[in-house]
Amino acid sequence: MKSEVHCSGSTLPALSELVNDKHSRLNPTLVKSRVAPVSAGNMVDFVRMARAAGEKICVAGGRHAMGGQQFLDRGILVDTSNLDKVLHFDGEQGLIEVQAGMRWPQLVDYLRGTATTGGGWAIRQKQTGCDALSIGGALSANIHGRGLRQAPFVSDVEEFKLVTASGELINCSRRENAELFSLAAGGYGLFGLIASATLRLAPRRRLRRRVEMVGADCAVATLEERAAAGASHGDFQFNIDDQADDFLQSGILSTYAPVDPDDGAGGDTAVQSPRKELSEEDWRELIYLAHCDKKKAYDKYVRHYQNTDGQTYWSDVFQLSTYVENYHAAIDHGHGGRHAGSELISELYVPRSMLAVFLRDAAALLRAQGSSVIYGTVRLIEKDTETFMPWAKESWACIVLNLHVEHSEQGLAAAKKSFSGLIDAAIALGGSYYLTYHRFAQRRQLLTCYPQLEAFLRLKQVYDPQDLYMSDWYLYLLNELRS
Ligand SMILES: Cc1cc2nc3c(=O)[nH]c(=O)nc-3n(C[C@H](O)[C@H](O)[C@H](O)COP(=O)(O)OP(=O)(O)OC[C@H]3O[C@@H](n4cnc5c(N)ncnc54)[C@H](O)[C@@H]3O)c2cc1C
Repeated sequence: MKSEVHCSGSTLPALSELVNDKHSRLNPTLVKSRVAPVSAGNMVDFVRMARAAGEKICVAGGRHAMGGQQFLDRGILVDTSNLDKVLHFDGEQGLIEVQAGMRWPQLVDYLRGTATTGGGWAIRQKQTGCDALSIGGALSANIHGRGLRQAPFVSDVEEFKLVTASGELINCSRRENAELFSLAAGGYGLFGLIASATLRLAPRRRLRRRVEMVGADCAVATLEERAAAGASHGDFQFNIDDQADDFLQSGILSTYAPVDPDDGAGGDTAVQSPRKELSEEDWRELIYLAHCDKKKAYDKYVRHYQNTDGQTYWSDVFQLSTYVENYHAAIDHGHGGRHAGSELISELYVPRSMLAVFLRDAAALLRAQGSSVIYGTVRLIEKDTETFMPWAKESWACIVLNLHVEHSEQGLAAAKKSFSGLIDAAIALGGSYYLTYHRFAQRRQLLTCYPQLEAFLRLKQVYDPQDLYMSDWYLYLLNELRS
């Protein structure tokens, strides 16, 4: 829905608003006001006004980060939802410039509108599990998808336009303002407002899904083998049932490889017979079962995947997901409220050769702490050599774990213990974790996983000496480093 709060005129709106992140609902924040610019020029005017008035600015896209990166207590929130236009499409080079608030489904739809019978252009990667996420948010968190041989999202970005702390609109690329390019990509909004980004596209292709059941000890080897044979995407979704012997130890390995255009059964122009898909109702049931009957949830999910072995998908459309709005409402009210709360995600990284060891350690830790795993998957990532503070410091295995969190003092303390324990388990194997999802990591863990953090914060002072761009997450970092 479009916001009614535009930034125009010569004064800042002064209507405070309670905002929160969409998925965990654990970051309620009272912002001083919210503005929703419609253009880069509008953003510049607003930044200059806020700066002159001595205000602090935070910026939000889809509000799915869960560590308070997009909010600031009593800050002025720049809401990018009205920045949703395509600015330029270059069908020759496969480049598209979009405003930073554009969401993935709009972009996928636009590109499908330009597709030819042979394919056309498609996005390279997006997040899984949720679509109403912005391009600005993707760049600021330097996200990744299910690509088997892809570096994080920065590698898909040709250049972007940034409103700096001095209120200038500048171009950032690998040649122009290169340091700011490397800081704002993965910089969580602390180095300026991204107004638009030019993305590199990939040829739109039809892919065939291959589904196998494998153990954790051969998941990486199988994914790498399928990638070497041409598969472009894939993951390993493991068993979430902590009562089962193979909890986190075996799962569904799916890979996606281009269909031979000459293959009459599934080439580019082939029409699919009724596709086996999970409906929103199926997803609702799965989420419910993942809380209350994990065995049933996992068995149902496995059956669904096995039934889709061999099915074909377009390389952009298959990256879209069903996100059940208010996904936790039925669970909050069912089972006498015993599973009330929400989910928090964590992403851990380990050397690929250590995946099975990590999953064994994680299973022991999560069982010992009585944690409820709602979903988990493993993907591969290639090393990021472009951002100042990369999370993909190596070509790692990425382990995503969604845990249920009870919204109480006790529930949050338990979550902190579990997530912090998982970070230590990854560190012990030479790995790391993703900054996007929570504020549980302590100074020691932050500095071990992000050794550039102090330099990153020093450069923040160089580019934004007045701390115009702030967030509750930024204050947490400063606090931890002072401790
Ligand atoms: C269900 C779910 C599934 C997810 N799956 C994945 C996944 O598969 N892979 C992955 O990598 N991540 C994943 N994530 C994390 C998600 O990609 C990030 O949180 C991402 O930043 C969300 O985009 P957003 O538009 O919601 O950003 P927001 O949450 O609104 O903002 C995130 C950060 O970006 C900054 N920001 C937003 N817009 C701008 C702008 N225009 N200029 C400057 N800074 C800006 C904000 O200040 C904040 O620091 C998932 C999250 C959820 C809840």
